[in-house]
Amino acid sequence: MSLTDAQRERYARHLSLKEVGEAGQERLLSSRVLVVGAGGLGSAAIPYLAASGVGYITVADGDVVDITNLQRQVMHAGRVGMNKALSAAEFVGQLNPDVHIEPITHHLAPFEMDIVERFDAVLDCSDNFPTKFALNDACVLAGVPLFHASVLRFEGLALTVLPDAPCYRCVFPNMPPEGTIPSSSEVGIMGVVPALLGVVQATECIKHLLGLGCSLRGVLMHYDALTMRCEYVEVEKSRECPVCGEHPTITRILPERYEQ
Ligand SMILES: [Zn+2]
Repeated sequence: MSLTDAQRERYARHLSLKEVGEAGQERLLSSRVLVVGAGGLGSAAIPYLAASGVGYITVADGDVVDITNLQRQVMHAGRVGMNKALSAAEFVGQLNPDVHIEPITHHLAPFEMDIVERFDAVLDCSDNFPTKFALNDACVLAGVPLFHASVLRFEGLALTVLPDAPCYRCVFPNMPPEGTIPSSSEVGIMGVVPALLGVVQATECIKHLLGLGCSLRGVLMHYDALTMRCEYVEVEKSRECPVCGEHPTITRILPERYEQ
């Protein structure tokens, strides 16, 4: 595969980076990425994955765009009432015709998560713990890189989970009981916070696809918008981890494990 003249023009600023070049751009154009969730995180990550020329993007979300989403989910502008995966597909279609975008118009359930095997990378842009834990387990079991983020109020977390690196469960072994951690609809969220974290996920993913290193491999990033500080906590692979430890108890995805 070689780039067309139109692609050389579109990706000129990438081609000027010797670390990317034509070979890197071709790699992006042949890459397959799954984005689970097209809310605040996805609304920031998806446009930059698409603009960068990630060639095959699948977006899963069962929600419909609501007026309260537009305080942060700017990708959905003008599409109140539309399914979010379809809205993402419409946005990407207008931004970059090189991208093959596949919308999945329902919430990805644990029993479906073996589809992660079809992708070069997965972005966890979900907003609930059952999805986050099931995605981590599915990606670890399939050996597929996972780019995690979560946000609440003025803060966010990000972690890059690569095969053989510490996983989300190495840091958080078990799902918190329902109701112990509030949702953004209960305690609020500053609109720009998920945008920043979603771009961190997209950045980590694009670097990984290009082989340019991963700064959040084994490093939990904590961002606080109020102090504008980031903390980076080194995390280790846990021998007791239930999915990637020495004696794993999670060896396949059982849907009942993710019920709250
Ligand atoms: Zn682990």
